[in-house]
Amino acid sequence: MVYVSVMELFSIGIGPSSSHTVGPMRAGKRFADALESAALSPDRLRVRLHGSLAATGLGHGTPAAALAGLYGWDPVTCDPVAVPVLWERLADEGELNIRGMRLAYTDVVFEPRARHYGHPNALTFEAYDDDGTLVRAVTYLSIGGGFIQQAGGDEVPAGVAKEPSFSTAAGLLDLCHGTSIAEVAWSEELALGRSEDAVRAGLDAIWNAMNASIEEGIRQEGPLPGGLGAQRRAKTSWESVEGMHAFEGGAEQRLLVYAMAVNEQNAGGGRIVTAPTNGAAGVIPAVIRYAVDLGLGEDGIRGFLLTATAIGSLIKANASISGAEAGCQGEVGSACAMAAAGLTSVWGGTPQQVENAAEIAMEHHLGLTCDPVGGLVQIPCIERNAVAASTALTAARISLMGDGIHMVSLDVVIETMRQTGEDMSSRYKETAEGGLAVNVPYC
Ligand code: SF4
Repeated sequence: MVYVSVMELFSIGIGPSSSHTVGPMRAGKRFADALESAALSPDRLRVRLHGSLAATGLGHGTPAAALAGLYGWDPVTCDPVAVPVLWERLADEGELNIRGMRLAYTDVVFEPRARHYGHPNALTFEAYDDDGTLVRAVTYLSIGGGFIQQAGGDEVPAGVAKEPSFSTAAGLLDLCHGTSIAEVAWSEELALGRSEDAVRAGLDAIWNAMNASIEEGIRQEGPLPGGLGAQRRAKTSWESVEGMHAFEGGAEQRLLVYAMAVNEQNAGGGRIVTAPTNGAAGVIPAVIRYAVDLGLGEDGIRGFLLTATAIGSLIKANASISGAEAGCQGEVGSACAMAAAGLTSVWGGTPQQVENAAEIAMEHHLGLTCDPVGGLVQIPCIERNAVAASTALTAARISLMGDGIHMVSLDVVIETMRQTGEDMSSRYKETAEGGLAVNVPYC
């Protein structure tokens, strides 16, 4: 399975984390909906958070997201402000009634040492009768980017092609004789059974939500939640670069602010687009907006997103987009590669130059660890997105200066990223047990 629909890879949701917030919300909803469909009406619920979801779950809003899902809330339509309130209410009141079932504060169990064999991000929902008999228990894996899978299941998620036309970057390039990577991705979207109008509408909705997160991010100010004391900086940064002329580097300065604005929205639990994860949500919107400022139109935006989707699909299938699996090279590195590819394509690059740009961007993120201070998606994440947006621009420029012929292929870099992620200590995979997370004082 390689091709993942643009609608799944870029899903509209809430911050601060695709794997720790969006995934658990979807899992909770799926579990509670399944109880209802099976006409089961248990008395009590329990949620067990395993591995990384327990280690950094509080900072990522995982318990609140799981509760919201059990209530039937959806990441696309829920009120982002209402989600964290659920966890606060449970802590205050000691017990909630969720769709007729009781859940006590002590029923949310944190098990950071319980690492599920399927994935480091796992959570189990349990339902009990009033005599304490277990009625149903399901473990879900939150595999990154908001995608979830039932542990032990082999279902193909909606929006993922069972028989895509390519499985490697080399295979993708083989399809590009007289066609662009965006056109190949477009064909894959239609092959998933969507109409042309539906794909166009979906692409436009994704960009509109991305752009809205930029606009909202440069309006907000004040401290970010979580107790770290980090302040939002996008608004004041925007005020200093808004009118800056191109010859002063204004466009590049604004690129950095766009990325920070989105990631501050994400850190604040606001509405953002997973791209391809929440922690890395600022890179692609920032680079698209940069190109829009320079004249990119709506067809170009669609082409950018489709090109980025083809590259993101390759990385997801052949390595990982999950920080808990591969460290930050899997999150911000992937977003950077996707953005570099998208920008190169809309700047007229050949498919070979697009592949080269993605390769350059990923190559220079290899080994990047995930070490969020306090388990919050703030430091280093917010600045890291701005740096990666800048790197995407550099990668596109380097590739466009060449002819697409290069020594290290994207396939090799993706495989290297996978191996590096496997070798990486779990301390650097979204557990907040190493790196900056232990060296920056945080109370
Ligand atoms: S350090 Fe990177 S992978 Fe880790 S939470 Fe931040 S953005 Fe995500």
